Amino acid sequence: MSGFLGIYSKEHCIRDLVWGTSYLQHRGQKYCGWAVVHNGKMSYDHHKGKLREKFNFDQLKSIEGHLGLGVVSSGDRQPVSELSKYGEFLLAYDGNVMSAGELKEELLREGHSFTGHYDPTYIPDIVLVGKILALNGPVDGIEQLSRRISGDYSLALLTKGGIIAARGWGRKPLILGRNEDSWVVCSESCAFPNLDIEIVRDVRPGEIVLINEKGFETVKQLEVKPVKYGTFEWVYTANAASIIDGVSVEQFRNTIGAILAERYPVEADLVSEIPNSGIGYALGYARAAGIPHTRIFVKYDYADRSFTQGTKEEREEEARRKLIPLTSLIKGKKIVITDDSIVRGTQTKESHVPRLKSAGAREVHARIGCPLLRDKCGYGKTTKEKKEILFVRMGMSNEDDVRKFLGLDSVGFALPEDLAEASGKPLEELCLSCWGIS
Ligand code: SF4
Repeated sequence: MSGFLGIYSKEHCIRDLVWGTSYLQHRGQKYCGWAVVHNGKMSYDHHKGKLREKFNFDQLKSIEGHLGLGVVSSGDRQPVSELSKYGEFLLAYDGNVMSAGELKEELLREGHSFTGHYDPTYIPDIVLVGKILALNGPVDGIEQLSRRISGDYSLALLTKGGIIAARGWGRKPLILGRNEDSWVVCSESCAFPNLDIEIVRDVRPGEIVLINEKGFETVKQLEVKPVKYGTFEWVYTANAASIIDGVSVEQFRNTIGAILAERYPVEADLVSEIPNSGIGYALGYARAAGIPHTRIFVKYDYADRSFTQGTKEEREEEARRKLIPLTSLIKGKKIVITDDSIVRGTQTKESHVPRLKSAGAREVHARIGCPLLRDKCGYGKTTKEKKEILFVRMGMSNEDDVRKFLGLDSVGFALPEDLAEASGKPLEELCLSCWGIS
């Protein structure tokens, strides 16, 4: 997973570029990078780690250039540079190639080679994508990409003449914004308000846009079928301040919370959340149920996002470390606790519920913002391994098995139709694969 921001500005863009990209940090914390074009020359830098730790804003200030691309990534080092007969470009890629092994073999048969420090058995998706774009040119290359891969993507290429950005079938967000000085394309709109950028619109599935000194231009609209919006963006991945495909992430979560309150009522003393992604659901539930919303876990501000950690052990350690229970508010209370989803269930079983019970909670009722996950995500989110999912791993047959396993007094999950209601999109336009619905 990754997040990127491309900008053309009448002013030198580095400040807005790096600040804007830092608002996407939740989309990836492993690598970060930036690139600019100045006087026909491209320069770029990338590092392992978080953007604000790796780049000193004061030192970056002197960098000149009106066109730029910033990126954060949980997987591969970005941006990737390519030089071909179509010119030089730098690529940022939020996506996956399910058929990466076959694509690598096809490209090798076609005579291409991969240089760099790659393990021959594993070529990163972004490198494969970069080859296709370099071979065919940016626009035809994106069209080729949409024909040759199974998976999904949003991407941006920084060229000397502008930024070319594109969206695949809809699972990966991409949005356009502007202010008096700048035109911006970005993974999420949460980067906009503090840069005084207004949303123009989402990039449509299949659309390829060019951003330069003239503004935005659609250079091609590909026929992509079926369009599938990335439901898990609203459920968990995206920042609550983002608006994705016309739907406020916070309002989506509030609506689901209210639906859960109506469907699974509890006479509780308080409603709280697993921070941060459970907050929107808790607020919606508390308002609809007329029960006080109270914080019982405080998130340690300097923790990483547990989902973006590499190994299972790292994720579990980070998940435990990041939450500090407010034990005096928990003792003797009947609690509704909201969370975005249950994927592996390990954090809920081994950390959240025992910590609430040992702090003296009388009852713990979990309300979950999406249906029970039943399958892997083939698109680079939740988990790549079906066997890691709680429901599959434990051979469960229904939600009550989950309740018993997690030691909860009750559990209630949102239904697929709730996701459609909260997003205002038809069910058939939502990606629901990870819930076992194709
Ligand atoms: S399968 Fe689930 S997590 Fe993966 S893209 Fe679809 S909605 Fe998102």
